[in-house]
Amino acid sequence: MTDQGNFPPPKLGEPYLLTPGPLTTAYEVKEAMLRDWGSWDADFRVMTDEMRMRLVAMLGEGGDDFTCVPMQGSGSYLVEAMLGSFVPRDGKVLVLANGAYGLRAAKTCDTIGRARHLLDMGDYMPPRGADVARILAADPAITHVLAIHCETSSGILNPVAEISAATYAAGRKLLIDSMSAFGAVPLEPGKIRFEAMVSSANKCIEGVPGFGFVLARRSELEAAKGRSHSLALDVHAQWEYMETTGQWRFTPPTHVVAAFIEALRMHEAEGGVAARGARYANNRDVMVAGMRGLGFETLLDETWLSPIIVTFFNPADPKFDFARFYELMKDKGFIIYPGKLTVVDSFRIGCIGRMDAAVMTRVVEAARDSLGELGVASATPPAAALEERAKLAQAKVRETA
Ligand SMILES: *Cc1c(COP(=O)(O)O)cnc(C)c1O
Repeated sequence: MTDQGNFPPPKLGEPYLLTPGPLTTAYEVKEAMLRDWGSWDADFRVMTDEMRMRLVAMLGEGGDDFTCVPMQGSGSYLVEAMLGSFVPRDGKVLVLANGAYGLRAAKTCDTIGRARHLLDMGDYMPPRGADVARILAADPAITHVLAIHCETSSGILNPVAEISAATYAAGRKLLIDSMSAFGAVPLEPGKIRFEAMVSSANKCIEGVPGFGFVLARRSELEAAKGRSHSLALDVHAQWEYMETTGQWRFTPPTHVVAAFIEALRMHEAEGGVAARGARYANNRDVMVAGMRGLGFETLLDETWLSPIIVTFFNPADPKFDFARFYELMKDKGFIIYPGKLTVVDSFRIGCIGRMDAAVMTRVVEAARDSLGELGVASATPPAAALEERAKLAQAKVRETA
């Protein structure tokens, strides 16, 4: 195999997007958009059908009770649609937050008028099953728990299995934002119980942005009739219309759907969720090992590191300037991502998209050269960053003791 393997560089000369979606897509995915489709035409209805079936199949064990409802908009539209459709107007949500997307879900509850209890773990500490059990025992009004599968703002893979166990042990229902994990990290309802999850076209399935989808238990969907606060974001109404007409209720992003079907076929050809997850994990391992070799440190240790995106502390060296580092990396063909931690400065590198370990090796070389151009001798982070990380290690000991 050549250095380029099965993942040649983007044909159009654009940089690699080391970001968690939009991300680098295959040329074939972009090419699938070079044709117009009538949204009511039988050909497009067949495409919608194929897409829904493929997504349900991706759930694996226990997926038979589930159906798929695609919906226009970015991922946040889907989170809002899920909360508004599955949580009754007099229900209450326990929102488990350890980053920006959890906090956004809490704000969504406030905006659409669903009561909520927020467990805010800060920048990256994981919400644990014991936390969920304690809060649910104290508040019988809570009907649903919302968990973020991979909290993309730090890259932490949250412990959804223990969260699910605690939720159902207390007789409540689990909803999952698996936006940045679905398609690469298994989420089988036969193993981890939940009622509904959402994801979008432009993350691990490697499509382009424009819509997302709900995978929900049919019984929950049936119960959702008339519940939504919104006309456009009503999951039950979209489902009912799609089941009876084969069409989307309002104009679908036809080109994006065509691209997504190509992406789904490529996902299957690669070997499905297991193979996609293995490629991303290998991307992460090669990239993290290389970056550590330059002196960089990750926020999270191996236990919590997702194969989706990794947070690195900025180096302590005062010659390091993220804005310049970003531009130098971009000049070399790689777009990285600023950090979102509130306590210490950081940046992120995504592992998802149409790229493999050979690309990640070049990312590390580009980082090494960029540091050299900045005059930074070592990428070692400041002591404050390492103290921050020690807190996480201690929390883990406390929780598992
Ligand atoms: C990407 C993402 C979303 C949705 O964000 P949009 O900008 O609306 O697409 C929601 N939750 C998580 C965890 C995400 O990674």
